[in-house]
Amino acid sequence: MSNYVAPARFLKSFTCPHSDCGTFAQQIWQSNPVDFSEGRTLGDSYPLATGICQFCGKPSIWLAEKMIHPSTTSAPPAHPDMPDDALKDYSEAAEVVACSPRAAAALLRLSVQRLCVHLGGDGKNLNDDIGQLVAEKRLHPTIQQSLDVVRVIGNGMVHPGQIADDSAKTVSKLFGLINVVVNQTISAEKEVQAQFEDLPEDKKLQIQKRDAASGLT
Ligand SMILES: [Zn+2]
Repeated sequence: MSNYVAPARFLKSFTCPHSDCGTFAQQIWQSNPVDFSEGRTLGDSYPLATGICQFCGKPSIWLAEKMIHPSTTSAPPAHPDMPDDALKDYSEAAEVVACSPRAAAALLRLSVQRLCVHLGGDGKNLNDDIGQLVAEKRLHPTIQQSLDVVRVIGNGMVHPGQIADDSAKTVSKLFGLINVVVNQTISAEKEVQAQFEDLPEDKKLQIQKRDAASGLT
């Protein structure tokens, strides 16, 4: 996941955009295809380029800076620990980000709203949920800021004129932020829990007794 490199035209290597590959691989590029009827290159009027993934052999096709095939996404894959309901919105956002960054931003905001419920919010109002989680000191400041960025940009893109840059590139960064949130909350908790479970039984009992005595449980 941390090795994700977004596809870009003429980049030497990137994470293959084909969903059945998704491998970080070298790309072999070909540009300015020949117009056979005229026997000349199409050149700048049709700045087409093709990159061939050296792992799966499939092409990505580019018109100037825009990838037109596969049409799917410039979004990183979702974090494996992302809860199912948040993942559904995340995946849908990944599908539409190339043709509608605004729709993707709105879906990502929804994904964050669902994530907040998993973190202890009530899911009614995202702004209130984040505020509540901050007040209860349940969010690390970095996490809170990540959530707020997705909230504000997601909201601003739905209301015209609020966010100047509504490019797919801006929205692509939001995907990464959501993965950071999942990693530092749900995954971190899972990891700590697994380590605790591995402690010897008598040590776990001692800890439970201590917590019971101090009224922590
Ligand atoms: Zn590939």
